[in-house]
Amino acid sequence: MNKASFYGLTLNQLETWLIERGHKKSRAVQVWQWVYRKRVMYFSEMTDVNKECIQLLADHFVIETLKEHCRQEAADGTVKFLFQLFDGNLIETVLMRNKFGLSVCVTTQVGCNIGCSFCASGLLKKKRDLSSGEIVEQIMKVEQYLDQENQEERVSHVVVMGIGEPLDNFGNLIDFLLIIKEHNGLAIAARRITVSTSGLADRIVEFADTNLQVNLAISLHAPNNELRSRIMKINRVFSIEQIMQAVDYYLAKNNRRITLEYILLKDMNDSSQHALELAELIGDKKKSVNVNLIPYNPVDEHSQYQRSELEAMRTFYDILKKNGIHCSKRLEHGTDIDAACGQLRSKQIKEARQNNHG
Ligand code: SAH
Ligand code: SF4
Repeated sequence: MNKASFYGLTLNQLETWLIERGHKKSRAVQVWQWVYRKRVMYFSEMTDVNKECIQLLADHFVIETLKEHCRQEAADGTVKFLFQLFDGNLIETVLMRNKFGLSVCVTTQVGCNIGCSFCASGLLKKKRDLSSGEIVEQIMKVEQYLDQENQEERVSHVVVMGIGEPLDNFGNLIDFLLIIKEHNGLAIAARRITVSTSGLADRIVEFADTNLQVNLAISLHAPNNELRSRIMKINRVFSIEQIMQAVDYYLAKNNRRITLEYILLKDMNDSSQHALELAELIGDKKKSVNVNLIPYNPVDEHSQYQRSELEAMRTFYDILKKNGIHCSKRLEHGTDIDAACGQLRSKQIKEARQNNHG
C-alpha cells in the first residue's frame, strides 16, 4: 500500500498537513465531517470541497483499506466481522447491542505476544501492530454496515478488547483514541471508551499521564502472584503489586473507576478463598474499583480450562458484594457464534491451513 490511510490522521495532524500545503485550517474540519459524519468512501464525493484540495488528498491518502472477509450474526444481534488487512492478515471486530447503546470491540494487533494460557488470540504470535487508521477503520466499517442495514442508531461505546495488547501498541492506540473522541467526527465520549490491558504496569503509568480520561480495565484473573503467573506468564514481568501501584497512579490522575476483569475458571481461581483474597487485595481502593466477573469461553486448544459452575460464580459474586466490592457479571454476547476474543480468526486460519493441506 503506497498511500497512507486517512483514518490514521488526528484532526490536528490533518490541519497541519493542509496548512503546510497552502490550504486553510478550516478545510480540515470540513473534510473530517465528510469522512466521519457522511461516511464517504472517496474524496471525490466531497461536493463542497475545492477540486485542488480533493486532488491533493486523493494523491496522498486512501479511505478504504479493509475488506470484509466474512461476517457472523448471532440471534441476539451481535455481529462478528472478520476483516482482511491490505497485507492479507485477518482481524476481528465485534458489534454488540446493549440496552445502553451499540458498542464495538476493536482489535489492536495481528496476534498477541503476551500469550495468556486461556486465550485464543495468544495462540497466534503477534505478526504486527495495527496502524491507528486500521483500528479506526474497524469502527467505520461497522458504521457503514449500520448504514447498509438502514439502522439509524450509531456506535456509542468502544471497547479495546479484541485481539492484541493495546498498551503494547501505545502510540497508535493514543492516536486512535484522539481520532474517535474528536467531536466533529465520531464524537465517542471518553467515559464510553474502555481500554483493556493484561497489566503492563509501566505503560499504565504512561497511559495515565496522557490524561485521556477513558476507562481502564485490567485483566487480573487471579488474586495472588503464584496463581496469576501460572495463568498469565506476563505476571512474571509485572507482579500484582506493581499493577496495584500503577492503579493508584491512574486513579490519582484520572477521574474514573478502574475495572478489574476476572475470568472464572473452574477449580482454578473460583473458590471462596480466592474471592476473599481478591476482596482483601482491593482493600481500601474499594470505592474506585469495579470487579467484572467473566464467564470463560472455552477454547479447543486450552482444554485444561473450563467455565465455572453457576453455583461457584454466584458464591464468588456474593462474597465480593458482602465485602463491599462493586461487582458486575459480564453479559455474554453472541454465544451461538465464535464470540471469545480471537476465536473466529484462529478458527478461520486453522480451516484455511487444513484446506491447504488436504
Ligand atoms: N489484551 C488485552 C485486551 C484483549 S483481551 C487484555 O488481555 O486485557 C480482552 C479480555 O478478554 C481480557 O480480559 C481477556 O482476559 C479476556 N479473554 C481472553 N480470552 C477469553 C476467553 N476464552 N473467555 C473469556 N474471556 C477471555
Ligand atoms: Fe493477549 Fe489479552 Fe489474549 Fe492475553 S488475554 S493473550 S494479553 S489478547
